[in-house]
Amino acid sequence: MKNYLVAETAIFDRKPTPPALQIGAGRVLVVEDSLDNQILLKAFLSKQNLEIETADNGLVGLEMALEHSFDLIFMDIQMPEMDGFEAVHKLRVAGYHGKIVALTAHAMKGDRERCLESGFDDYLCKPLSRYTLLECVSRYIFP
Ligand code: MN
Repeated sequence: MKNYLVAETAIFDRKPTPPALQIGAGRVLVVEDSLDNQILLKAFLSKQNLEIETADNGLVGLEMALEHSFDLIFMDIQMPEMDGFEAVHKLRVAGYHGKIVALTAHAMKGDRERCLESGFDDYLCKPLSRYTLLECVSRYIFP
């Protein structure tokens, strides 16, 4: 339980949990090397009528995105095997046009620009607000 509380502060901020979205279903791929973050994101997004698949690194995420159909991809930046910048770049080169949002702990100046240049549609900083995450889901899956 303690580990989950530590991870909770890492992936989500401390704002209260928003009510579930009362909208249609969608398929989301979460590409994230932290198992704790995967579990927390999956638990939260599953309550929003979303079907969640997870990938442990950019290489697996790249393969899954090309083989299966997703309405939205959330992708961590720092990952083993292949980072988020490389994975999104390779996906765009391969002709992938789906929405991909970066999730990163790196709030450094210029990161947003680098994310957008690499091919991400948008960029969210950890710790995430659950409201911001839902707003992002609504914007990209159910516009
Ligand atoms: Mn990471």
